[in-house]
Amino acid sequence: DKNHESCIMHHASTQSLFGIIQGGIYKDLRKRSLEELIEIGFDGYATGGLSVGEPKGEMHEIINFIAPLMPEDKPRYLMGIGDLKDMLIAVEAGFDMFDCVMPTRNARNGTLFTSSGRISIKRTEYKADNSPLDENCGCYACRNFSKAYLRHLFLAKEILSMRLNTIHNLYFYIDFFRKMRDAIKGKKFREFREKWETLLQ
Ligand SMILES: [Zn+2]
Repeated sequence: DKNHESCIMHHASTQSLFGIIQGGIYKDLRKRSLEELIEIGFDGYATGGLSVGEPKGEMHEIINFIAPLMPEDKPRYLMGIGDLKDMLIAVEAGFDMFDCVMPTRNARNGTLFTSSGRISIKRTEYKADNSPLDENCGCYACRNFSKAYLRHLFLAKEILSMRLNTIHNLYFYIDFFRKMRDAIKGKKFREFREKWETLLQ
């Protein structure tokens, strides 16, 4: 429509403009939305309007339905999905890009992702645990502080708790995706997915 056309005319050539596929959990509406966006022509295509309260099964169905229909030669972006298990499903379906509050919001709530799964830093078992949050993590928080100290900061409601936890979770997500790209290149994505599905149960 006119709005799309004026967006395309005005967006700077150094930026990429994405078309956002809508249609809720209705496959026919999703397909029509995508087809009309392709007709306009965008630098990339995004699937929006998922993870807004619909059952997980329906969300996965739309992810698996729409990804193979999206142009393969353009970035395929799944908006607002940040659960690691959901992203494994989405990457397998064909998605390339994500954005989500999951790593930062979880960090602020004391839920941290590690190479052996998800942990809650407030648990009593970490009270005198002087080991780093994750021995395999190279982030600032893991290189400099212990679980006991991170737990103390969290319970004392120190703002530093949120900062260190956020540094760790963002580092973890970036590293997770780097390892996933390596697994795809090495044709080991299936093993990668199964390993993490077990760790994140
Ligand atoms: Zn770390």
